[in-house]
Amino acid sequence: MTTVDDIRRHLDAAFLPRLAEEWDNTGLLVGRKIAPVQRVMTCLTITPSTAAEAITRQTDLVVAHHPLPFRPLQKITDDTTPARLLLDLIENRIAVYSPHTSFDSAATGINQQLAVGIGLTGISPLIPDDDDPDVGAARHGEFAESLTLSELADRVTAFLGVSGIKTAGPALDRITRVAVACGSGGEFLGCARRSGCQALVTGETNFHTCLEAESVEMALLLPGHYASERFAIEKLAERLGETFSNVEIWASADESDPIRWNSNHAP
Ligand SMILES: [Zn+2]
Repeated sequence: MTTVDDIRRHLDAAFLPRLAEEWDNTGLLVGRKIAPVQRVMTCLTITPSTAAEAITRQTDLVVAHHPLPFRPLQKITDDTTPARLLLDLIENRIAVYSPHTSFDSAATGINQQLAVGIGLTGISPLIPDDDDPDVGAARHGEFAESLTLSELADRVTAFLGVSGIKTAGPALDRITRVAVACGSGGEFLGCARRSGCQALVTGETNFHTCLEAESVEMALLLPGHYASERFAIEKLAERLGETFSNVEIWASADESDPIRWNSNHAP
């Protein structure tokens, strides 16, 4: 019988805990290690909707990219959403594992998959790990032939399966070196520029980072936080299923992007 700890050890080996950012909270966050596991659900975030799906489908372990709990809790009551969700999961004997920034930075992590997916070659971490330069935060790489901003946007939306993407900065027409940072990665703009990139693809960022991109003539492509990471949640379910063939593993079917185009005001 597969246990929570068997899956924890497998995930810790794939997404090394030491790659997690200092501010993060990763690994096995809820549950008994010896508990048996027959059903595993992967999702980007534990929300009322994904927690309900996990409970309905009698899940033993949820592998949620974003940590729950993330910040320390002093009370576990139904007064706050994180504590209420934790109560729901614990009452239903559901364990939680969150790889988060370890997954972002791993050798086969989200950023590597994103870089490969949009066709970059010669891919390396933007901020390499001190001990192993093949892993680390974000990625950058190059295209064999230069792309226009619009062509790069096509590659990103095609890989992520989304129709819309926001861009900031100049409409460059000869992009050869590009950095990628899943989620909310505007902080990598300066590093991407110093590494010779003409563009940064990240899920989302703030207004002032968009202005900064314009000032330093870097293109910024923003497909959305959800889209920039959710594809890897589906891949993770497949990968886990190959290793734990006796366990039923699926990516949450009820999860969706909380940000939607208004139906009357779509682009
Ligand atoms: Zn994220």
